[in-house]
Amino acid sequence: VLAAMGRVPRHRFVPVEEESGAYTDYPLPIGFGQTISQPYIVAFMTEALDVGAGHRVLEIGTGSGYQAAVLAEIARDVFTIEIVDALAERSRQLLAELGYKNVHVRAGNGYLGWPEEAPFDRIIVTAAPDQVPPALVDQLKMDGLIAVPVGVGEQTLQVLRRTPSGLVVLKTLPVRFVPMVGKPK
Ligand code: SAH
Repeated sequence: VLAAMGRVPRHRFVPVEEESGAYTDYPLPIGFGQTISQPYIVAFMTEALDVGAGHRVLEIGTGSGYQAAVLAEIARDVFTIEIVDALAERSRQLLAELGYKNVHVRAGNGYLGWPEEAPFDRIIVTAAPDQVPPALVDQLKMDGLIAVPVGVGEQTLQVLRRTPSGLVVLKTLPVRFVPMVGKPK
């Protein structure tokens, strides 16, 4: 994971005025009220997901595209969904410019997942829902892992494995992500 992060130029994923802080261990604003996650959290989630070279990974919350790029350094394909159209467009362009041919960006609502590309070996959610979205669990392979910050205000990052008898919690960590918006009624 550290080698992958070492290959991704984080300064390209932040606004020019934030470039000087791009290699510090802090989240930074990326516009539209959103943030690029703290590198420690990117590393923790990527590590906990145990991503393999053959994996197809779904990310919810593209944001700057940084986490997607880190995943793309390790996995076969990354499918990432962003609800803010302008962020999806910007990240799509940046990732293409940096040569990430195995990242596929969709503008849309991540609560629904990406059924046409399911099932996924791994799923990472980088905005906080109030509970694990059922559509995402449906699109996860059996024995696959999902990392998701769950909660309103106080959030717990949960790393879960899908088993025949349901989700099993493997790891937790207190975190603070932006809320996942657009929950279907
Ligand atoms: N992974 C990002 C950081 C994510 S910030 C990075 O590496 O930079 C959280 C992102 O989730 C924001 O861009 C926000 O717009 C997006 N988001 C919130 N709710 C969403 C939803 N329902 N579907 C898809 N994206 C969502």
